[in-house]
Amino acid sequence: MKIHVDLDCFFVSAERTRDASLMGIPVAIGGRGDPYIFSHTAIPQQCNLEVSGAFLGTFFQSYDAHTDDRAKFIDADGRIRGILTAVSYEARAYGITTAMSIREALERCEHLIIKAPDMQLYQHLSRELHSFLHTRIPLLEQASIDEFYGDLDGWIADEDVDVFINTLRHDIAAELHLPVSIGASPTKSIAKLATSSAKPFGCKVIRADEVLSFIEPVAVATFPGIGRAMQRQLSRYNIQTLGDLVRAKALLHAMSPYAASLYTKVCGHDDDAVSPHRPRKSIGISRAFDPIMDRPELRRRILILSRHLAFAVMRLNVLPTTFRVAIRYEMSQHTHATATRCRLFHEQWFKTLILTLFEQAEQHRRLRILHLSISCSQFTCNSKRTLSLLEFQHDTTGRKLSQSMQQMQQKYGLNILRWGSELS
Ligand SMILES: [Mg+2]
Repeated sequence: MKIHVDLDCFFVSAERTRDASLMGIPVAIGGRGDPYIFSHTAIPQQCNLEVSGAFLGTFFQSYDAHTDDRAKFIDADGRIRGILTAVSYEARAYGITTAMSIREALERCEHLIIKAPDMQLYQHLSRELHSFLHTRIPLLEQASIDEFYGDLDGWIADEDVDVFINTLRHDIAAELHLPVSIGASPTKSIAKLATSSAKPFGCKVIRADEVLSFIEPVAVATFPGIGRAMQRQLSRYNIQTLGDLVRAKALLHAMSPYAASLYTKVCGHDDDAVSPHRPRKSIGISRAFDPIMDRPELRRRILILSRHLAFAVMRLNVLPTTFRVAIRYEMSQHTHATATRCRLFHEQWFKTLILTLFEQAEQHRRLRILHLSISCSQFTCNSKRTLSLLEFQHDTTGRKLSQSMQQMQQKYGLNILRWGSELS
């Protein structure tokens, strides 16, 4: 069987490992953009390229611990800013959820403790859990900062899986002081679904002959891989639960190859392997901030993000060919622009391209901007694309310069070299 191990409200649980006073009370982790990356004075940034996953910043700031960081979420005009990225079960009892605004959360529970995220601590604990799991499970895959898959086939007999995962759960709590939930089933996606139904601090095994009855009442939105667009498509055919979906085999197969593969997954028949070394397929950086109208300032911010991302691309030693800029405006407006360039990567043309994409994506110039993200994908090593020879000579020179900059940044810090256009 395959198992899925998921840390329960990880960021909150992580804070509790170093501050026991946070046990048993409503606690949340809040995000209010990054107060450092856009600063006009250079502040050292740290870079971690090991794991990528939701809410995990590649670049982050070292952090000093306080019990409550509420002051960090109040802006110059005394308004409460930011959203919650993790919520304890005690806080959920007040109706507080992940992605809720901090202002609304405080209205629901005024004694809620709010802490700023400490990525360094979370990454450290994630690595500890990874090493610990390795001592028990030979074939292990890290899916995100707080999620792992393990393959027990040929290692633990199916009838012993209940005892094995239950022991594992208690041993992790005893050794690392972190609560996890564990699901087991013949496939990864059903194991993940089993974990969600076992939370918090629970275990659940779904055997092959139990899959259909287990998924029957589950809402389609709960299944990994069914996004909003897919949900809308399914609800047009009155498919609300996974049970409804299983009964619509012909429809799903006619819809798209993706829908057909989803059908196999929902039935518990796919054979996705647990793979310890999944190659990275993309890299990006994004930041949220208090709403900004000032376009030159936004261009400065895009350049800063480009510089950071260029550093990461060079460090990973990959050659991306697809580039994307996405903008989130106030009033729930989103836009994006993408481009394909088969050129040898270096910072000079990269920042120019990103600025151009930013201008293309800008469709609501009368609205303030809250969030910017840029990303690179389709690395040449994974795709059939080859680099254009036309610009090769010029790009080789640019790349040499980028490489020397890279060496200096690695030695003296990411902010040692900044583009002149950022400093205005
Ligand atoms: Mg989790």
